[in-house]
Amino acid sequence: MIPVARPWMDEREADAARRVILSGWVTQGPEVASFERGFAEAVGAAHACAVSSCTTALHLALSALGVGPGDEVVTVSHSFIATANAIRYCGAVPVFVDIDASTFNMDPTLVDAAISTRTKALLVVHQLGMPCDLSRLMAIARRRGVPVVEDAACAVGSEIRWDDVWERIGRPHGDVACFSFHPRKLLSTGDGGMLTTSRSDLDARFRLLRQHGMSVPDTVRHTSTQVVFEDYPVVGFNYRMTDIQAAIGREQLKRLSLMVARRRALAARYAEHLGGVAGVTIPHEPTWARSNWQSYAVTLDAGLGAGLRADSVQRAIMQRMLDAGVSTRRGAMNVHREGAYPPGSWRAAGSLVRSEHAQATTVVLPLYHQMTDEDQNRVVEALRSAIDA
Ligand SMILES: *Cc1c(COP(=O)(O)O)cnc(C)c1O
Repeated sequence: MIPVARPWMDEREADAARRVILSGWVTQGPEVASFERGFAEAVGAAHACAVSSCTTALHLALSALGVGPGDEVVTVSHSFIATANAIRYCGAVPVFVDIDASTFNMDPTLVDAAISTRTKALLVVHQLGMPCDLSRLMAIARRRGVPVVEDAACAVGSEIRWDDVWERIGRPHGDVACFSFHPRKLLSTGDGGMLTTSRSDLDARFRLLRQHGMSVPDTVRHTSTQVVFEDYPVVGFNYRMTDIQAAIGREQLKRLSLMVARRRALAARYAEHLGGVAGVTIPHEPTWARSNWQSYAVTLDAGLGAGLRADSVQRAIMQRMLDAGVSTRRGAMNVHREGAYPPGSWRAAGSLVRSEHAQATTVVLPLYHQMTDEDQNRVVEALRSAIDA
């Protein structure tokens, strides 16, 4: 069976975890601090704050920007549900705008109309690792005075051309970027997340909120020669990353460039072999973007002219591929169609028809660091014969 994704971990990560386990300090401590410094340097950020997941990172980012009950946050429905859930955690209302059909990212032309007097933030997503059109989105957000959070869950190592220079996602180009280290993403710590920002006030707020709102961290008390009493000025959370996870993350970070290079080579090979296949549209990479190809999603329109339903074709092709030993997944979901999002819990700024169409027609093909050319040939063959069938 060819899996859809697989983390690239070996003895190096196992040794790193072992070293921390035997050190006597296993929760957020020196390894987390070191991972944060390394990550900030890798993406070109002034500050990086590690947390337990990208979901908790998104919650902290919106909380630190003051998003609260009754506020609105403009985002996309075509994303993993955690994007919109973070808005709901704050008691705020997600306002969904449609995507650009070629990049599956927020359509900048729809954003102005979605912003209201209640808009507290714009939450953009670099979907499946493909950078969204940040320069256009930032211009609108700055003009309207709305802060920008980047859901960069999938985008570690992705790049964007900014003032004619290629820069990694996470500098950040908005106010805050949030990353995920879940095993479906490139760089994994089992679970984990990171917030990057240029603003020291926001970074300080993240650090306070991730650890119960505690004024003096336990690491400081542990090494102090004086007795220290902490206090709790605000209601915080326990969103810490452990030192075991951070030690694994430090090993993974050393290989980030290799991970991206391998995935870009595999994506180029998919493009070469699938580019001419009828019924398959390969993903589009704008000239100003370099995806890390966290996911490689093709769009299927085979048989649609014959009056078949898009989602039935999608399911049938995925099933045939599974029968042939190739695991796939649907592309991104549509949050507004889920039971957790009843009418009244969200608002749409215009039609979401392109989001819905993308959900019904995209299929994520296997892509992982250790994938061989033979594995990839099998995927291509399985897709071709599923379409023919
Ligand atoms: C994976 C993902 C998340 C959630 O990340 P976790 O680290 O699993 O919490 C959020 N947004 C997007 C777009 C994702 O793909």
